[in-house]
Amino acid sequence: MRERTSTADIALIGAGPVGSLLALALAQRGLSVEVFERRPDMRVHAIAAGRSINLAVSTRGLHALRMVGLDADVLAHTVPMYGRFLHAPDGTTRLLRYGRDDSEHISSMSRGGLNALLMSHAEATGRVKIRFRQRLVAADLATQTLTLVDEDSGAQERVTAPVILGTDGSASVLRAALLAHTGGQASEALLSAGYKELTLPALPPGEHGLHRYFALLPTALHIWPRGRFMLIALANPDGTFTCTLFLPLAAGPDPSFAELTDDAAVLAFFQRWFPDFAPLVPDLAAQFRQAPVGQMVTVKAWPWVVGPVALLGDAAHAIVPFFGQGMNAGFEDVTELMTLLDAPPGPREWPALLQRFAALRKPNTDAIADLAVENFVEMRDKVADPAFLLQRAVEAELDKRLGGTYRSRYQLVTFTRRPYAVALHAGAIQADVLTQVCAGKTTLAEVDLDRAESLIRARLLPYLATH
Ligand SMILES: Cc1cc2nc3c(=O)[nH]c(=O)nc-3n(C[C@H](O)[C@H](O)[C@H](O)COP(=O)(O)OP(=O)(O)OC[C@H]3O[C@@H](n4cnc5c(N)ncnc54)[C@H](O)[C@@H]3O)c2cc1C
Repeated sequence: MRERTSTADIALIGAGPVGSLLALALAQRGLSVEVFERRPDMRVHAIAAGRSINLAVSTRGLHALRMVGLDADVLAHTVPMYGRFLHAPDGTTRLLRYGRDDSEHISSMSRGGLNALLMSHAEATGRVKIRFRQRLVAADLATQTLTLVDEDSGAQERVTAPVILGTDGSASVLRAALLAHTGGQASEALLSAGYKELTLPALPPGEHGLHRYFALLPTALHIWPRGRFMLIALANPDGTFTCTLFLPLAAGPDPSFAELTDDAAVLAFFQRWFPDFAPLVPDLAAQFRQAPVGQMVTVKAWPWVVGPVALLGDAAHAIVPFFGQGMNAGFEDVTELMTLLDAPPGPREWPALLQRFAALRKPNTDAIADLAVENFVEMRDKVADPAFLLQRAVEAELDKRLGGTYRSRYQLVTFTRRPYAVALHAGAIQADVLTQVCAGKTTLAEVDLDRAESLIRARLLPYLATH
């Protein structure tokens, strides 16, 4: 087995979106980075997407992209989404706006496109070398030695590095090594629902409709909430939509992937629950057959750091996708680490710096993990519920009355950089107040808005002013 010491300042595992951004940000600070990535180079070889072709980027992610000078490049290839576009079972629709106005929106973008852009900019610094098809199989954290396998030849190599950062995703090998070394722990909670991705095609040339070549309004996140399950769709710039069906994995009282075993059952399921969607995807049964069922896991691990070795992104804190924050949270890890790196003049003490980073981030990533699970229930179930809609209407009134100082939980998470833990706590106060003032009411006219305002002034605003 070949053995060597890396000549780079930092060895990084995984060139996904977080690893590529991190490599770029470190290189911009004069550090050299050797990256080990198990996949082939996606800019050269077409790689099956495996999971979500597009994803939503919001304020935290954009802030990190601005830090490396790429926010405008990225935004040029996105589709803005201004709200949730709800499709009821009877075919009626309604738009629930996300923000206060159109300036507050999320953006749908290609995961692969973003990843490729970040890798190219990282390499262009001349300080980042990405070694593809190199899979981490073991790590000795006492000596900071990585064991890597070349996926083509099967040859093994041992590489020692002064600093090791792990961005190798939710099934992180570095995390397993770190936890084994420290006696730490990870809880891995698998969601009982899984997902399949389907593509809704663009309209054929000559058949352009209300939304040009898009079969649905492109500037919203479409949701077909159905209680225990749901379908969502996000537009791509080429006129297609990436649609994700979230459904229980195991047979039970509700429809599940376990029952959708043949084309007839699949088509009958879509006709029954999504009659306005089914005709838009001509090869629905074939797509469904071919798409793998993805699983979703929340990983809460600790510690993230031992000496000059640390975890970031999904490797440290994988979350379920329902707040659209997984990558945004990983990008925020990079922002926070760079803030610490930039702060103290003098020599960089990596172990202490990484410990500070982890202590700062952990309460916030735990908070977004819980918020993401809660948002699953909100999206699949509550958005269709009149009580939920009444509470949103009260929130809109509070926003008007309080001159912009009121921010809903969704807005705090998505359109601000307030710590996730603050959003979680503020959300609990809001939920309590809204439940109190809406109890027994069905219309906005019945709600005592003065009382709602005074409760928010007394309980929420002082908290937000001091956190
Ligand atoms: C269905 C779905 C929808 C989502 N939607 C959104 C969204 O709208 N907004 C959002 O912000 N987030 C979203 N996410 C979450 C987002 O995808 C992740 O948070 C993000 O990809 C994490 O980036 P990462 O770089 O940490 O990990 P990953 O993207 O998993 O990248 C890890 C990299 O490490 C490599 N690797 C893994 N193991 C090894 C090894 N042993 N050796 C070498 N290399 C290795 C992998 O090949 C990969 O390139 C979604 C997730 C899912 C599943």
